[in-house]
Formats: sequence, C-alpha cells, structure tokens
Amino acid sequence: MKIEAIDLFYIALPEVTRAADSSQDSLVVRVTADNGLIGWGESDGSPLGNISAFVMPMSHGNIINLNESLLGETIDSPEDVVRLRAKAGRYALDLQQVDHAVSGVDVALWDLLGKYLGEPVYRLLGYETSYPKLPYSSVLFGETPAETQRIAERIRSDGYNAAKFGWSPMGEGTLEDDVALIAAAREGLGAGPKLMIDAGVIWGSDDGAVFERTERFAEFDVTWLEEPLLPDEVDAYRRLKDRRPSIAIAAGEGCDFYRAAEDLMVNGGVDYLQIDVARIGGITIADRVCRRAQELGVTYVNHNYKSHLTVAASIHIFAGVEEFKLFEYPDGVSPLIRGLTAPTGIFVNSDGMVQASDAPGLGVEANVDTIRQYLRQVRIEVDGKVLYETPVV
Ligand SMILES: [Mg+2]
Repeated sequence: MKIEAIDLFYIALPEVTRAADSSQDSLVVRVTADNGLIGWGESDGSPLGNISAFVMPMSHGNIINLNESLLGETIDSPEDVVRLRAKAGRYALDLQQVDHAVSGVDVALWDLLGKYLGEPVYRLLGYETSYPKLPYSSVLFGETPAETQRIAERIRSDGYNAAKFGWSPMGEGTLEDDVALIAAAREGLGAGPKLMIDAGVIWGSDDGAVFERTERFAEFDVTWLEEPLLPDEVDAYRRLKDRRPSIAIAAGEGCDFYRAAEDLMVNGGVDYLQIDVARIGGITIADRVCRRAQELGVTYVNHNYKSHLTVAASIHIFAGVEEFKLFEYPDGVSPLIRGLTAPTGIFVNSDGMVQASDAPGLGVEANVDTIRQYLRQVRIEVDGKVLYETPVV
C-alpha cells in the first residue's frame, strides 16, 4: 500500500499549566493509505514544533521535511517501516526536532501495517506472546506529605499494586522533607505494593546528594529512584553507581535518540532504562533500544504520560519480553489520557495487570470527537504560501 496522507492534529486542554504533566497537549498523527486504512500515533514535545518538522521549507540537502520523505512511499512489511524511519532521519539529518516529530508517524505506520497484515504490533516486532505487565499508577507528589498520603490511599483503593510519585516538592526542601514525602507515600500504599520515586532531575550533577537520599529512602522499600540527575550528567550517574546505592537507579525518559539511551546504559550504569516511544523516534527506535537493554542486562521500562495511543504503542515494544514486568501507566487528571482513545484503551484487568491487545495494529483507535473538542486551529504561511492548515478531522 502507499502512504496517501499524513494529517496532523494539535490538541490541547483549554488551560495549560507549568505542572510537569505532558498530558496537557499532544500532536496526534493520522496516516491514511491508498487502500483506505488508517493508522494513528502521537508525538511528545511541542505540537507546533513537531508540525514544523513536517512542513518546513527545505534548508539544504540534510534538512528536508517529513512529508517530503514519507508521502507516496510504499509500506507492505516491517522492513518498510524501518526503512522509512531511516529515510526520514537521513532527510532530516541536521534537524534535531525530527526525533520527536517522527515518533507519532512511526507509531501510526506500525498501527497501519498491523491493520493491513491482520497482526498486533508485537508480532510484527517478532514476538510470539504478549506477557502481562504490572501497571504502576504514575502520579505527581502532593504539595505536602499529607496530600501525598491521600493520593497513595486513592491509588491503593483503585486496585493498583504499584505506584510512582514524582517531581515537586521532592528536593526543594531539606533531606528530612524528602524523607517525609516518601514515608507518606508508603504509609498511604501500605506494605505490599511497589513504590517508585521520580526525583525530576532535581539534584543536577550532585551524585553525593543523591547517595545520601538513597540510603535514607531504602527503609521504605523503594524499587527505584528515577532521574535524580540531569539527563546529560552521564558521568554523575556513573559516580553514583560506583557508590553502590541501596536503591536501584532509573533514567532515560529524556533520551531523544538511540545513542543517548545506550550511553545511559553503558556509561551511566542505570539499572532501569525508561524510554518514551513518543520522544525517541517511535516504535522502530524504542524496539532497538529494548533489544540492546536485553543484551546489556538492563531492565527496559516504558515512559509515557500522554494518551492511550502512546500507552498502547509502549506496551507492544516489550510485550514479548517476559522479564520486563513493570509498566508506567499514566494516572493523571487530564481528560486526554483516556479520552483520546475512548472507549478503547489498555485497561487494567481483574488480576491487576495490563497486556498488549491481540487486535491488529496498536489495538486502540483515536476518538475523533475528542480530537474535535480539543483541536487548536493553526495556519503556517511563508511568503503567502500556506504550508500547514489544521485539517478536517
Ligand atoms: Mg520521570
């Protein structure tokens, strides 16, 4: 089949805040083939920045837009999707935005191909079985320990057996303030469930400050401490690892390309690598990282805080790897998280687990009513020529 159209929809909540919550907006990508089949995906990052990567005028031979590299191309097999991902990267060799932007269309191409061949994406990636994963409710800390405890109690009563708390106010007060937050989270969850902590890069390059925390946090049975350091501080991650902290270290959501992920594993020594399929360049690149993690003995985990389009894309990548058990499950308040694909989604089953769908493609469909409801109207024009205008849903 041929790629006939790539439609880009910038959706956003009426009010976008400074909260570290990437489910406030999205760039939804619809790919239509000449046989009428449709694939869906979404990109993280700035929707408007991503749109520009599809339509910007050519700067030179190494900055050519994504529409130019993909429209009219043939896609009949997994090798075609991999080939097109490579082509898009080569056409936009000197454009850093391309990895975020291409993520959504790469996911949409896997969805489209799965529908065409009648196979779920995990099978297209070469896996026979999709193993159940333990979803962890992924939320932000409350502003106080008491509020954090209430959130933890709510998560527990919703039936989750794992939870992750992140970002502010962790690291903004004293060491004792940080300990109080974690104690409250554990108190609210009770003794059984897994508890993960996301420090939101607060200690920069200070591995000593992080080590002090890991030794205090360990008594609360914390599965991992996530992003205690900035993504680029790979040497600091290595120094931290050499101190032999009492808690496993996780990082990787900031990786925008394959080599950044490999750097964190090989040189940073992280125990858990967290990859966002909507940032790193799509399923094609996340799959490559997942295979490298297996070789290196690092545990692959998804990162995602967007809609169930990305939740579904995320789970197919490591569905077939039984030992990678934990799954980040966005549990925020944004109506886009579940609404963008409602009534379809990747839902927690009666055993408290989530599993990749066996339906063709991703196994979820975008809800066009939700897209219409949150759609932003955009028009990009250069010298009177319209490069982009919000398409009809
Ligand atoms: Mg994080």
